[in-house]
Amino acid sequence: MKAIIWLLLGICFSACNSQSQQNDTNMHSTDNPYYSRTDTAHLEVSNTEWKKILSPDLYAVARESATERAFTGKYYQYDVKGTYFCAVCGNKLFRSDAKFASSCGWPSFFESDRAGSVLYKPDYSFGMNRTEVLCGRCNSHLGHLFEDGPPPTYKRFCMNSISLDFEPDK
Ligand code: FE
Repeated sequence: MKAIIWLLLGICFSACNSQSQQNDTNMHSTDNPYYSRTDTAHLEVSNTEWKKILSPDLYAVARESATERAFTGKYYQYDVKGTYFCAVCGNKLFRSDAKFASSCGWPSFFESDRAGSVLYKPDYSFGMNRTEVLCGRCNSHLGHLFEDGPPPTYKRFCMNSISLDFEPDK
């Protein structure tokens, strides 16, 4: 009898475990109907709608232009080969080849994946004159662009880690 109970518990545990792994893998497709790594059509989604879909931390950065604290993001010192997508909509943004070690405290890239990956907007907030970088597909805030990057572009795309969704190369 005891053996049967343990067997049933074991089956239940492995079923629950595989269910949670499946949820992790499919998080974007199940929780966010706008997320796609292949559809490049521009999105017009209201903040009321995004607020229902995104985590509070991602919503604050992506839709309210908050900035995550320097030296705290998960991709700041990350050096794995792969592709960075928009965490809000799945748009392809950067390749790891364009990432460089910056001392600024945020993940930094010297070029975007393609023309149209990102959009630019003048940002005069906080008494500064900066260029805001937005996702080219969903218009979410990603970070800022500075002119002090390394060759060949001398640009520094200073990004918030939370706005990025990384996929390692196979
Ligand atoms: Fe996006």
